[in-house]
Amino acid sequence: MRFVSTRSASATAEARKDYSFKEAVLAGWADDGGMILPQQVPKVSRETLRAWARLSYPQLCVEIFRLFVDENDVPLEVLEDIMINKAFKRFGSSEVVEVKNVCPKEHANFNICELWHGPTLAFKDLGLQILGQLLQYFLAQDRQNLLLLVGTSGDTGSAAIEAVKGLNNVDIMVLYPLKEYANISLVQELQMTSCNRERNVDVLAVEGTSDDLDVPMEILFRDAHYKREHRLGSINSVNIARVLAQVVHYFYSFLCVCPGAANTASFFVPTGAAGHISAGVLAVQMGLPAERLCAATNENDILHRFISTGTLQKSGAVAQTNSPSMDIQVPYNIERLMYIMTAGDSRQVIAWMNEFKATGRLGLSWEEMRPLRDLGLTSAMATSSRVLEVISAVQCRGGYMLDPHTAVGVAAFLDAPPSQGPSVCMACAHPMKFAETVAAAFQVSVDVANHMMPDADHPSVSRVFQLLRDHGTVSTGSLPCQVLRRGEDWAMSLRKLIATIETRRLQPKM
Ligand SMILES: *Cc1c(COP(=O)(O)O)cnc(C)c1O
Repeated sequence: MRFVSTRSASATAEARKDYSFKEAVLAGWADDGGMILPQQVPKVSRETLRAWARLSYPQLCVEIFRLFVDENDVPLEVLEDIMINKAFKRFGSSEVVEVKNVCPKEHANFNICELWHGPTLAFKDLGLQILGQLLQYFLAQDRQNLLLLVGTSGDTGSAAIEAVKGLNNVDIMVLYPLKEYANISLVQELQMTSCNRERNVDVLAVEGTSDDLDVPMEILFRDAHYKREHRLGSINSVNIARVLAQVVHYFYSFLCVCPGAANTASFFVPTGAAGHISAGVLAVQMGLPAERLCAATNENDILHRFISTGTLQKSGAVAQTNSPSMDIQVPYNIERLMYIMTAGDSRQVIAWMNEFKATGRLGLSWEEMRPLRDLGLTSAMATSSRVLEVISAVQCRGGYMLDPHTAVGVAAFLDAPPSQGPSVCMACAHPMKFAETVAAAFQVSVDVANHMMPDADHPSVSRVFQLLRDHGTVSTGSLPCQVLRRGEDWAMSLRKLIATIETRRLQPKM
């Protein structure tokens, strides 16, 4: 299996490049600035699906990765060791992912797929722990280092740090937007800044939105010479290993609700950068029996407008919502969706992306959008006030507490026409991470909201309680990390810090 860039047609025939799995994982972005996808999509038969129904989550990860990864890139026993012994060992559930029937009286066939049992209580742990282990394996093999540069609107940062902290061959630099510029929660911030003392971790707060902080990072990443020289890597949802890890969410939850694989299911997916939903589209191409795959956005609804009308157009500044991990103005994985829509016509993808960049608008026809519709892709939008309503309604009627991101997906389910088969909503975080919003939903104080939290004895939940207690007792009021100020040349500041990290790497370990 080889991997290709969504922009591969921009190179001349000789220079056109495909990637092995290892090269694709280490590159993050393709060298031509495009995004990486598998060259062919492996097909999964109903028979295989039925056989998969007996597998545990880690075993299913092995089976799905095997379809994409050659033995000589990662031998089967290494893949098994990563998935079965390593990646999920710090998860608070022995099943790794749990699918639960919620509100059975009203919606007999509505299920929540809990993807948040990892160390930072967000679904990103699932993909990032796998990616961290793959990187460790590849880098140790080559006796190389990699410097991961990560921009986060909240959840990616801590999940990425937890996936690589303490590893020998990886350093990580995380940029996050200060509270004044984005709705980042206290827990999200503490989960990151509390790791700043780890030897291979640097956390930077930025006076800007999550789109602003992408700008200096893109400058460094698109400088191919600099990127190679300093061995920069990315683990944002651009990384193909994370997309493949997310494909597993769909097959696993499908088999929990349709073990005989005889039926179809509908999926409701809270969407920000569109990584998770792109993985869903890939899963459907592979043969996931999906009646509907709904991309659920918050007020940052460019993807919803694109899917429902064919028009891709920004709508002013990033809206700060109560589902901050989805406050993204332009979901970069749209380029992957375009590649899939055009059946791999990179020339067309490049032309569309250029038109969008140059004019700020791209209008595609009903016919051009057809391939996405044929895969069952739909969309919906929920406002912050709708999110509060849904959190309180599901708690009152089903006794189940949603986090605000999951509530965006559940709102889409409640507003959608009824499905024939079962429905699954992806639960991307635990409500503990967003106590401020839970408090607003129930009109109580944050303290009271914290006391209402479910799963208090879950190891990842109790770790968050510990962080909050430490913050209450030792907080000095000043941030325990460097800040990139407005008006500074951020790309230059990053280059300077990268030089410091490289010096530090040469010093003997303590
Ligand atoms: C990252 C994240 C999302 C959005 O995922 P994308 O792949 O960017 O669409 C949704 N919810 C939570 C809690 C997240 O952390």
